[in-house]
Amino acid sequence: MSHNITSPKGSISDIAVIGAGTMGNGIAHVCAQHGRRVTLVDLSEDLLQRGMETIAKNLSRQVAREVLTRDEADATLGRIYTTKDLSGVKEARLVVEAAAEDTHLKRRLFADLDGLCPPETILASNTSSISITLLGAATQRPDRVIGMHFMNPVPVMKLVEVIRGHDTSDETHDTVVALAKELGKTPVTVSDYPGFVSNRVLMPMINEAIFCLMEGVAEKEAIDEVMKLGMNHPLGPLALADLIGLDVCLSILEVLHRELGDDKYRPCPLLRRMVAAGHLGRKAGRGFYEY
Ligand code: NAD
Repeated sequence: MSHNITSPKGSISDIAVIGAGTMGNGIAHVCAQHGRRVTLVDLSEDLLQRGMETIAKNLSRQVAREVLTRDEADATLGRIYTTKDLSGVKEARLVVEAAAEDTHLKRRLFADLDGLCPPETILASNTSSISITLLGAATQRPDRVIGMHFMNPVPVMKLVEVIRGHDTSDETHDTVVALAKELGKTPVTVSDYPGFVSNRVLMPMINEAIFCLMEGVAEKEAIDEVMKLGMNHPLGPLALADLIGLDVCLSILEVLHRELGDDKYRPCPLLRRMVAAGHLGRKAGRGFYEY
């Protein structure tokens, strides 16, 4: 059995994660698995409990696959503390924000975190599309604000897209790149433009697949099959949209459309209608497919 636990070698042994949803619980899981003490923050006990249940379930899966021993999984869980109180982040030397994809919410959170955290703490966002520069400007430490864009599902996916804002310092960048490597990930650095690289390329493809469905070019299964078999994608674009969350896809497309000012990014009306109906994908039990 391989041993995936590493003790914190770098300077960052205390990490806070804001949001215990799809991404936040995965980020907390990976950080704790690699020896970090993690404070996980969300708005209610119920949301925190759900996040912890997901982490426990995913750890058990790793034990079943012999990625971790039961003891390592238990120790990982034991390193995660939960709180509804944002001031619980004070001990952290890195905060990774993974709250909802909403510019006003994130700017307010960054201003609050800036007031709560010691000056040396790095404030990172897992945002899929919101400007890191804009989040940095909500703080007095834009040099210590950076994007750490983990991929879903976090414990499995290798990439961390590291996004440098206009004022992000080399020191902040190098610290985050080193940490991402220590977490077993592969960091790739990109500049702060809307959608960065990942979503600038991915979302127009997903959007176009939804247009194909809306226009009756093909059935959903056929669209996904073409991309899986023809392009060697492990998941078709509609199944991937369900995994990401249709509300998340819509907000990213709205950012691309607004910030780049090009109609090629306009969200498909069918995507808007499905979000309005609450068919948000896997997390809602229903999206393009039923779960
Ligand atoms: P989610 O809706 O599953 O989880 C967001 C969580 O944040 C919720 O539990 C919510 O209660 C919590 N939250 C909201 N406001 C808060 C606050 N003020 N304080 C503390 N917690 C708060 O969303 P998600 O899919 O995990 O996405 C989170 C972020 O990660 C977004 O910025 C999204 O764009 C990004 N992201 C998502 C994916 C994906 O595939 N879902 C991939 C990469 C990045």
